[in-house]
Amino acid sequence: MDRTTKQRIPNGASNSLRAIPSTDRVLAHPAVTALNPALPQSLITMAVREELDAIRHALLQGELQGEIEAPTLAEVAMRAATRALDLLAPSLKPVINATGVIIHTNLGRAPLSQSALVAITEAAGYSNLEYNLAEGARGSRYSHAAAILRRVTGCEDAIVVNNNAAALVLALSTFAAGREAILSRGQSVEIGGGFRIPEIMQTSGVRLSEVGTTNRTYVKDYAEAITSDTSIIMRVHASNFRITGFTATPTLAELAALAHEHNLLMIDDIGSGALLDTTHYGLSPEPMVQSSIEVGADLVLFSGDKLLGGPQCGIIAGKSALIARLKKHPLTRALRVDKITLAALEATLLHYLKGEAACEIPVWRMIAMSEDALQAKATLWASQLASKGVACATQKGRSTIGGGSLPGETLPTWLVAITHNDQTPEQAVGQLASQLRHNLIPIIARVDNGTLLLDPRTVLEGQESVLLEAVARIATANS
Ligand SMILES: *Cc1c(COP(=O)(O)O)cnc(C)c1O
Repeated sequence: MDRTTKQRIPNGASNSLRAIPSTDRVLAHPAVTALNPALPQSLITMAVREELDAIRHALLQGELQGEIEAPTLAEVAMRAATRALDLLAPSLKPVINATGVIIHTNLGRAPLSQSALVAITEAAGYSNLEYNLAEGARGSRYSHAAAILRRVTGCEDAIVVNNNAAALVLALSTFAAGREAILSRGQSVEIGGGFRIPEIMQTSGVRLSEVGTTNRTYVKDYAEAITSDTSIIMRVHASNFRITGFTATPTLAELAALAHEHNLLMIDDIGSGALLDTTHYGLSPEPMVQSSIEVGADLVLFSGDKLLGGPQCGIIAGKSALIARLKKHPLTRALRVDKITLAALEATLLHYLKGEAACEIPVWRMIAMSEDALQAKATLWASQLASKGVACATQKGRSTIGGGSLPGETLPTWLVAITHNDQTPEQAVGQLASQLRHNLIPIIARVDNGTLLLDPRTVLEGQESVLLEAVARIATANS
């Protein structure tokens, strides 16, 4: 765009405000009229008005900073046309995750399995969500996932709510409102996004009784803190950080024994909810739902969209008498999950029951990918990109689990590095990353030390050709 055609008015926004073209002139511009058969006139007019408002707002803001610039008619028309097209595009859209972070919270955590996608589509119409088909009468939405959770985790019963934060609020409100919960200082944590365990307890009307120190807490610390007001002992998994060195924490078995000796409940928030053993994949141990239940937790709380690999939800699994009380709490209605979530969760859990989780659930398939397979894929990508004129090379790197699971742990991978001959590589790489994000299907890459890196581990199979085509098109257009 020709910058010299812009009017630069240094003193006062009023002149530049007057220089803004009228709605009618923008509507008559060819860049805008060209939209006409495809988009309804009402939508085009809406976009033009919004764009002019945005420009007016920007100019008035600019006045305060002493920088005033009125865009030309052509510029306004182009921006209004882009805005009109954007109005039709959903804000939430699929992206290609080439970062190598498997459970990327900003990118929607776990991608779902093929069966889960089919289940979602099938449940989207009418379903037996709350209908008992055998009796032809009202049923319970909580019956659906509970049956399979019993078989997969060994729990007596389970209830599914919106997310693990909701599971915590519900469990605390039901069993400890107006009473005390004992928690180790080392577990009084912030999970992310301002979600802090002590604040959740307060919101749920629970008095937090903190025991021990950040690095060392013993069973006797818990025992000494028990009063007639205590109702639960909580354990919260330190999902997103590690305390190492001079540390001590009682085992869940010891805590559960203490809780039961005093008629208290043992509630275990394990966070990720692994149903497979992470140590089989070269990773540190992550608490498993089955073992928490076996060892004696009365209720185990976990997310559906972390290592479980399913939809966003929170699962409370444990003793049936306690689950029955949770179902009766008024909050349950406010935290209830929809049919889409339940359908995706059941389909995901079915993979575990069938022993095919590691090959059918994307999160586990990504974790299980061998270094050799990743090297082969990176090599193939690099040769395809090179054949289209993109300067690139493969290099060893690390993928991460993410999603507040297994902090600091990485898996060996092979990356495709897009290299640049440009004199200002940092800027060029930043620009390339930005152009990839603006692709029709946005591509999120990793930028490290002035190099743009693509990790094949987290790119879904169906997205590979789109990724390679876009990277080739964008990278060669720049050079
Ligand atoms: C992630 C996490 C939560 C929150 O789970 P959401 O499903 O994101 O609400 C709670 N507790 C622990 C220990 C976690 O790791």
